[in-house]
Amino acid sequence: MAIENERIVKDVENGNVILKDLPLVVTHRCQIGDCLHCARGNPRPDVMEKDVVNALFAYFQDTESVSILGGEPALAPQTIEYVYDAMEKHNAFPQKRMVMVSNGVVFPAEVYEIIEAISSKTQTDIYIADDEFHDMQIEKKFGLTPKDIQNQMEAARKKYPTINFYRRTRRGASNAKILLAGHALANENILKEKGYDLIVPDNRVFFAAKQGNESTVLSLFTADACGNAIPCYISNDMVHTHSLGRIENGNIPQIIINNFEERQSGDMVVSMDWKKERLSAFKSTQNGDNGCGLENG
Ligand code: SF4
Repeated sequence: MAIENERIVKDVENGNVILKDLPLVVTHRCQIGDCLHCARGNPRPDVMEKDVVNALFAYFQDTESVSILGGEPALAPQTIEYVYDAMEKHNAFPQKRMVMVSNGVVFPAEVYEIIEAISSKTQTDIYIADDEFHDMQIEKKFGLTPKDIQNQMEAARKKYPTINFYRRTRRGASNAKILLAGHALANENILKEKGYDLIVPDNRVFFAAKQGNESTVLSLFTADACGNAIPCYISNDMVHTHSLGRIENGNIPQIIINNFEERQSGDMVVSMDWKKERLSAFKSTQNGDNGCGLENG
């Protein structure tokens, strides 16, 4: 184990882990739905419920940021609004920062207005994917080229100066990680030919590396739009086997870190276990086979 990771291990063993970012999959809606590398699988109508959002912020109050993910979060503007309301209500994140990750296709004025109102109170960043797989589908479905998306972003940047806009590049980056789940599973060969780093999902989470002398950076789980705690990067199609439990008030699934290893890439990987006895209380809230159900163990 590399020296630079020893402190991360010690921090975890001593319970000094700091969750720097709370990633929330606020919706499984998506207007594209079939990007070759998509780990989410088919879009579904779910949006994260208020009680899930409140339960999370009642528990996680000292994280530095919250990431708003999807699907496409711009298709769930009210959810973005009540995520921020919950941050305020629970006085979560003394250095509040909200980051939204978008495919950049649809931004109705209503979405900008909600985000602009938030950005007047806290740092708000929008990352628009610059990604060959998105490009392919966006051009096919909406006739928009990467240049069009760039122009849309530039126009929005001028109109809403309090929001920070960025392009997040994966284009041609062979070390970019793609989770082998959802549509990516069916397109494994294409992704391999393109040289992407494919990761097989299991009940693990990935550490971000330590940043300078800062404390451990660790993202323990993602909360999905159905209120399940799922290990980071795990596909929602697999949530019934990988859910760590349902997020309810006072009932955040307990994660027990029980093993470490270091990947060649230098990422730390932690294996996790969870308190199975708690899961017995989490019966499925099942709405068909949309991937939001839970199974014990
Ligand atoms: S990768 Fe993103 S934009 Fe593409 S289908 Fe999946 S959720 Fe939608």
